[in-house]
Amino acid sequence: MTNDLPVIIGGGLAGLMAALHLAPQKVILLSKAPLGEQTASGWAQGGLAAAIGSDDSTERHLADTLAAGDGLCDPEVARRIIEAAPSLVDELGRLGARFDRTAKGAIALGLEAGHGRKRIVHANGDGSGQEILRVTIEAARRAGHVRVLEGCAATRLILRDGRIAGVLAQNSGGPFVLRASRVVIATGGLGGLYLHTTNPAGAIGQGLVLAARAGAALADLEFVQFHPTALDTGQDPMPLISEAVRGEGAILVDERGDRFMAGRGRGELEPRDVVSRAVWRHMSGGHRVFLDARSALGGRFAARFPAIDALCRSAGIDPGADRIPVRPAAHYHMGGIAVDAAGRTSVPGLWACGEAASTGLHGANRLASNSLLEAAVTGQAVARDISGTPAGRPAPLAPLAVPPAADAAPVREVLSRHAGVLRDAAGLSAAAADLVAMADGQGASADPALLGLMMVVAMGRRTESRGGHARTDFPEKGVGLARREVLTWEEIRKARGSAPGPRWGLVPVLGSTHSRDGVQGQSSWP
Ligand SMILES: Cc1cc2nc3c(=O)[nH]c(=O)nc-3n(C[C@H](O)[C@H](O)[C@H](O)COP(=O)(O)OP(=O)(O)OC[C@H]3O[C@@H](n4cnc5c(N)ncnc54)[C@H](O)[C@@H]3O)c2cc1C
Repeated sequence: MTNDLPVIIGGGLAGLMAALHLAPQKVILLSKAPLGEQTASGWAQGGLAAAIGSDDSTERHLADTLAAGDGLCDPEVARRIIEAAPSLVDELGRLGARFDRTAKGAIALGLEAGHGRKRIVHANGDGSGQEILRVTIEAARRAGHVRVLEGCAATRLILRDGRIAGVLAQNSGGPFVLRASRVVIATGGLGGLYLHTTNPAGAIGQGLVLAARAGAALADLEFVQFHPTALDTGQDPMPLISEAVRGEGAILVDERGDRFMAGRGRGELEPRDVVSRAVWRHMSGGHRVFLDARSALGGRFAARFPAIDALCRSAGIDPGADRIPVRPAAHYHMGGIAVDAAGRTSVPGLWACGEAASTGLHGANRLASNSLLEAAVTGQAVARDISGTPAGRPAPLAPLAVPPAADAAPVREVLSRHAGVLRDAAGLSAAAADLVAMADGQGASADPALLGLMMVVAMGRRTESRGGHARTDFPEKGVGLARREVLTWEEIRKARGSAPGPRWGLVPVLGSTHSRDGVQGQSSWP
């Protein structure tokens, strides 16, 4: 091996695809958990969206994606990713993925909210992610060019003259450094920064923190998608009850049996953000919320949704006979590290792909089943770009302080209280004040707090409600705000340094009193 191999941080679908497509280039892949464990990719139930039906087209898939994204998608990026979906399905099939098929042998296609056609490719009913991950892991283990380091967490990126020069990582033996001039962040989402989440516990946006501390721009941070129906039985993370269950006719009721979504648009099949807000408001009114599949599926539940049936039963619930307690939970982050079409970040030598990246596909709201697609296709794109980028020369690296293992617990409290399904200026301001103190320190919560603070700043700046971002004090869409916003940690640091006190110092970056593109946003930031 040479001294300068590309390093991929993250062993989910995005990282694995990037590694596979780098062949024959040798590559190192770091995964915090053993491969196949603790990835959102492996937990995906619904499947992968691809316009392969005879009544479907790229144009239709694109139109549905842009509609869900609520004015903030990058149409060119979205087109490129969506166009790649059919060949991705072929590639996964060649790797051995056994997708569910119709009686005639064609790939069976499911329907999910927001899709105008049946286009969800799935496997083992609701075990789609597991099957896709199975074949990509097997391929990576077979491939001679991929060296997998399991149980290794990246904790800092090392820079030299403004370029990536290496990765500081940690395993059970202690910290170590990998010299690398080409690094890919594929660390997945950040749902673990909320108390209620469907994401793996380790999904606390560590990759975004690595990038932000290295000076990379982050984008669309205010857009967190909450899934309306996570199983509410006290587990952390919360098992997900897929939208497909509502697609089969299950209804939402409260403890009195009232169907509170009845009469609202498409009822339970309204988009995720709409249903999440309705459930949240109902719960805020003191109610409990249940998904009731008894009439729609009853005894057929286990056959149609075997994995969800098992999840419910492990919590003592028979979903065919009992009402299923549910609540909204942080599920997906539309924002992330800002990248161009090739996956390049604003820091030379650093790429990002999958959920950790803000690619422009999702805009303000992700269309269901578009994220496995994004993870795989952006992983491929990054690999292509790196293949054309020459290795650097090994350089001496300055010693680096080893940060403590991240503890997101205090940040989860703050974001859940003030930056959840519904937000307002007073709450976001309170959250910023709490997070600033933590982010400033050297403690175990500093990294999660840094990211939480950047998210809260982005939420405060967007003085409107759009897609996954709902402000009770700005309930309408703002004129002229249909654009993606980028933010750097340096911007926040500089703004804070320019004025006394942590709260006042944030004002310039929060955009509290100035008008933006004709929107008079007079928020109550301190
Ligand atoms: C319950 C659930 C159901 C879903 N269902 C669907 C669906 O049906 N269809 C769909 O399209 N999308 C679905 N999604 C979303 C989709 O699964 C994810 O967006 C996608 O899989 C992200 O892939 P990824 O490779 O970017 O991240 P992940 O698959 O989450 O992988 C991230 C990897 O990074 C590693 N990692 C993190 N930090 C570090 C670090 N510091 N150092 C080293 N390694 C690190 C993790 O251990 C993990 O290996 C679902 C998500 C969840 C949680």
